[in-house]
Amino acid sequence: MKPVTDSTAGATDYDVIIVGGGPVGLLLGCLLKQQGLRLRVLERRTEPMAYSAAIGITPPSLQILDKLGLAAEFVARGVQVRDCLVHGQRGRLGCVSFREIPDAHRFILSLPQATTIAMLLKHLGQEHFEPGCEVSDVRQLEDHCCVQTGERTLTARFVIACDGSRSRLREFIGMRAPGHVYDCHFAMGDFIDRSGLGDEAHLFFTETGAVESFPLPGGQRRWIVQTETHLDHPPLGFVSELIKRRTGMDVPAADQLSESAFTPRKFNCDRYYEGRIILCGDAAHGMSPIGGQGMNTGFADAEFLAAILCQADPLQLLPAYNRFRRKAAKAAIFRAEWGMWLGTWRGKALSMLRDVLLKFLLRQKPVARHMGSFYAMLTIPFNTLKQVPLTSQPPQRI
Ligand SMILES: Cc1cc2nc3c(=O)[nH]c(=O)nc-3n(C[C@H](O)[C@H](O)[C@H](O)COP(=O)(O)OP(=O)(O)OC[C@H]3O[C@@H](n4cnc5c(N)ncnc54)[C@H](O)[C@@H]3O)c2cc1C
Repeated sequence: MKPVTDSTAGATDYDVIIVGGGPVGLLLGCLLKQQGLRLRVLERRTEPMAYSAAIGITPPSLQILDKLGLAAEFVARGVQVRDCLVHGQRGRLGCVSFREIPDAHRFILSLPQATTIAMLLKHLGQEHFEPGCEVSDVRQLEDHCCVQTGERTLTARFVIACDGSRSRLREFIGMRAPGHVYDCHFAMGDFIDRSGLGDEAHLFFTETGAVESFPLPGGQRRWIVQTETHLDHPPLGFVSELIKRRTGMDVPAADQLSESAFTPRKFNCDRYYEGRIILCGDAAHGMSPIGGQGMNTGFADAEFLAAILCQADPLQLLPAYNRFRRKAAKAAIFRAEWGMWLGTWRGKALSMLRDVLLKFLLRQKPVARHMGSFYAMLTIPFNTLKQVPLTSQPPQRI
């Protein structure tokens, strides 16, 4: 890295540099742009991601998008999932409904992550975004940071690591990310949808493994199947075969548009910042995708951070960011783990026990109603700024 002297202090290139133009980095960029901050998002990719991971956008995230005036456009592009039907070994066990949740958006929005990224990027504007720009080092001086990318050194008052679960910035600041890889494996595919399952999500909990199915826009449907081991590249027909065996449904391999596999892991960093370098999104925490909370948790981090960075003294408020967002992520990690654990019990006895348990619980109206709010992430502690008033000061530029 080129030497940088203190003479650059007070005259940084940017107020904030965001490393990583995934969904969380882009949303944070949009929120900071709205506050009038000088910002740059650096993204190493030159092409969009080949496949879409996240699809579920929860009501608290739609509220954040609403602040940017984007919620209506997102809703128009996605599918509104109002009910999630739960099936056991011998038929339907019940329904988790979002129709009565206490929010203006009474549904989970299904929208491929690639579309979310494209829409956020369009809103951010190309002038704030630099693709093909890999950050190789970050260093802190007394009142600013230096970011190394190729031959260039850029300076900023704050650097935000939105560089995903394998964050290099996390390594640069030596932050521990304690957690572990689960002994649970999944394969998934997006298919042309001829299932007739409509706009509902369906969870099939069977004695040979789980199958999950979610509607996607454009007449498509995502299917996720639990597998014995991790498969790097599930062969064509593999997902269809397991769906057929476990649910009896015909989902032809010829209709499969994409395929991938994942083995979830969890971690929560010891601390979400070091000096002026701040972790956000998957760089700070990881959780099982089963439950669809990772990106949404990152969106709530971004909302919190944007509110801090436009205050007079952001450094004073970073302990609050760390405290509240770590707690919220811990809750989300636990919920994702709990949901995955219950759904992946296998064998006759355990699946019968699960059937009895879920049938009983889902028939209790208050429980079923609470589950809607639970999966919509309305009951995550400290998840929205409304729950954590930061300061009565009006926002200011840093
Ligand atoms: C199968 C699956 C399904 C999922 N479903 C859901 C769901 O329904 N709902 C939900 O909320 N979450 C879901 N998730 C989780 C969600 O995908 C992640 O939480 C989300 O992508 C995190 O966003 P991010 O921006 O923090 O990180 P990422 O999406 O990982 O983005 C990080 C970006 O940083 C860039 N980058 C990395 N290093 C550098 C560097 N040194 N310099 C410059 N750029 C760099 C990368 O290229 C990347 O673009 C799912 C995940 C999987 C795997």
